[in-house]
Amino acid sequence: MFKLTEQPIAKKCAKCKKMKPINQYCVDNSKKDGLYSSCKSCKNKKNRDYKKKNASKVKAYNIKYRKNNKDKISIISKSHYEANKEKRLALSKVYRLNNKDKCIKWGHDYYMNHKVDWYNKKAERRSLKNSATVFYSDKKAIKRIYRTAHILGIINKCKYEVDHIIPLKHPLVCGLHHEDNLQIITMRHNRRKHNRFDPKDYE
Ligand SMILES: [Zn+2]
Repeated sequence: MFKLTEQPIAKKCAKCKKMKPINQYCVDNSKKDGLYSSCKSCKNKKNRDYKKKNASKVKAYNIKYRKNNKDKISIISKSHYEANKEKRLALSKVYRLNNKDKCIKWGHDYYMNHKVDWYNKKAERRSLKNSATVFYSDKKAIKRIYRTAHILGIINKCKYEVDHIIPLKHPLVCGLHHEDNLQIITMRHNRRKHNRFDPKDYE
């Protein structure tokens, strides 16, 4: 079996014919030396060219692959996200600082393009809350919960949201806009929770 210690420190690329260090080659266990025959940049260029020439074929393949490997992709992307969380956050912070004007413009453009959707969603949410408010809901207590979430956000410099423990809109249940059905959670946690409701949690 091929051992890593037997590897040379450089090899000639079959494509560009340049001598390059072995870390410039992808691993290929079917090859005698355990490395791909062409260097990473040649391999990437080949992939890019193929994708360009066969755009619709590649797109169809990707859609099919994603459909058939949902669980696998979800596990990989979650672990990748966790492993690179700090790095990604630091990088995007630096990017935002260096591209302030660009980011403001993006935010503005995004808002303008989605304005109507947002207003519609907000109105729908408001009417949903109104219809889920029962006569025994304590409106003052509900207001206090929303205010607490706002104050917590200022103190902890983190966005908090008031979440309906049992969702207001769900195929299985219809939660109430009642103080006992409200909880304060971080915006991030809320986005992850989405509209999840598992009846087993309440058995
Ligand atoms: Zn090359």
